[in-house]
Amino acid sequence: TIGEVFAQTVRKFPQKEAIVDMTKGRRYTYEQWENEVNRLANALLEAGVQKGDRVSTVLFNTMELGTAFFACAKIGAIFNPINFRLKSKEIAYILEDAMPKVVLFEKAVAPQIAAIHHEFPHVSFWYIDDDTPPYAADYHALVEHAQAAAPSMDVSENDIYAIMYTSGTTGRPKGVLHRHRDMIEQSMICISVMRIRDTDRGLVAAPMFHCAELHCCFLPRVHAGAANIILHHFDPKLALQTIEQEKITLLFAAPTMWNMMLQEKLSDYDLSSLRLGLYGAAPMAPVLVKECKERLGIDLIQAYGMTEMGPAVTFLLEEEQLTKAGSAGRACLNHEVRVVKPREDGPSDPDDELPPGEVGEVIMRGPCMMAGYYNREEATAKAMYKGWYHSGDLGYMDEDGYLFVADRVDDMIISGGENVYPREVEDVLYEHHGVLDVAIIGEPDELWGEKVVAFVVKKDPNVTDEDLEQFCKNSDRLAPYKRPRAYYFVDALPRNASGKIQKFLLREQIKNAAKG
Ligand code: AMP
Ligand code: MG
Repeated sequence: TIGEVFAQTVRKFPQKEAIVDMTKGRRYTYEQWENEVNRLANALLEAGVQKGDRVSTVLFNTMELGTAFFACAKIGAIFNPINFRLKSKEIAYILEDAMPKVVLFEKAVAPQIAAIHHEFPHVSFWYIDDDTPPYAADYHALVEHAQAAAPSMDVSENDIYAIMYTSGTTGRPKGVLHRHRDMIEQSMICISVMRIRDTDRGLVAAPMFHCAELHCCFLPRVHAGAANIILHHFDPKLALQTIEQEKITLLFAAPTMWNMMLQEKLSDYDLSSLRLGLYGAAPMAPVLVKECKERLGIDLIQAYGMTEMGPAVTFLLEEEQLTKAGSAGRACLNHEVRVVKPREDGPSDPDDELPPGEVGEVIMRGPCMMAGYYNREEATAKAMYKGWYHSGDLGYMDEDGYLFVADRVDDMIISGGENVYPREVEDVLYEHHGVLDVAIIGEPDELWGEKVVAFVVKKDPNVTDEDLEQFCKNSDRLAPYKRPRAYYFVDALPRNASGKIQKFLLREQIKNAAKG
């Protein structure tokens, strides 16, 4: 179980630095941290939390989130990390669905919690900062008064350890259930792919509530006895500064975070300790990958996957970044990936495999696949049809078994009967020196059904739509029907906390502009 993994690391590396909270300036060795984890576990038991009960967190990146992760695992409580960026009604929706006994929260999200706590009279809200509001309990007081002895609980590897609500760029979020053994398997895969050692020091800059950071980085580093250095939230300057100061060796960042770091004056920082960068959770243009490699001087690995799969399913390794640019890589250990013919009338059939080069739905299976969605039998049966997870992503396989992810089924544009995959167009526009960020979507059009349009954040203020149109015309990778018919210049693109562009908001913006 994850509780046992934690205990083993503490026994092997009691005096090693385990976790650092940069914002609060706190540092714990594994032994000190275990003390804290045990106290929280006992405090939760005293509050009446039993095996199988849910414990939610609405926290930015904090030591307390990491502590809660292992405390829950030890007592068999189900850990439920909630996105701190959600609005009060969205948080209330998840609390209603998950029905936790305890919710941990902090100052930065207090307004959202203040607006909804009265709807949950049976939930106790624990506050991790100073000046606890009257409706909440003081987390640190509770933990201080609890026993430091390890709680003895009967937890098995097949027990559910977490419910994670998917970022849901469309529709209501669904609670993904994972077992202890899924996560230990995922952790071992990530340790082997990134060759994580106890000497590593990882920067936690991407949101910890999301499984890309939590399962692919934070957990494997604890598993291997490495250190986690936590930034409350991402800031490019602070991240670069911390890499230098704390001699960081490993960093996961979503593509947009890498992009932001590249805009900084890199020569001001000594980044020589950094040995490996991981990117993923959203597509990253090959030209940005190349720039990271060259300007940061580090090896990069891409991960592709989704919450439902634990999340990582394929990796594009260091040495493949240039030879297989644009690919998401090959299936990782113990995993299989297929591209199959999509069906209109239901889940696609795993036996309808498409030949290399043909675009279809990406499906996969492996040991880290979710146990199912919480309280959603129908959605579970559809998503896990015939034992394969149906991702809703479109992609193709090349002759060598490398996966190329095109787009979400919902984001594909059909213009004049031709399929346009936004990523192809985005990847070309990212190569223009004047483009910082770009999203391609389909705008409803009477003649074409949909026309291709671009939302662009400028890097060079002088860039015009004619420049970009000329650039696309000159590209040998864009057929005329794929070229944007309009460019909308904006200050920023709407992204969710894991760095995915929220294209539905851009589509709404266009709809509203058409109306008004
Ligand atoms: P989530 O809901 O956060 O689990 O997001 C999963 C989705 O993120 C996948 O279905 C993909 O659409 C997208 N995604 C994750 N990793 C990558 C990647 N490396 N390249 C492109 N898209 C990705
Ligand atoms: Mg999803």
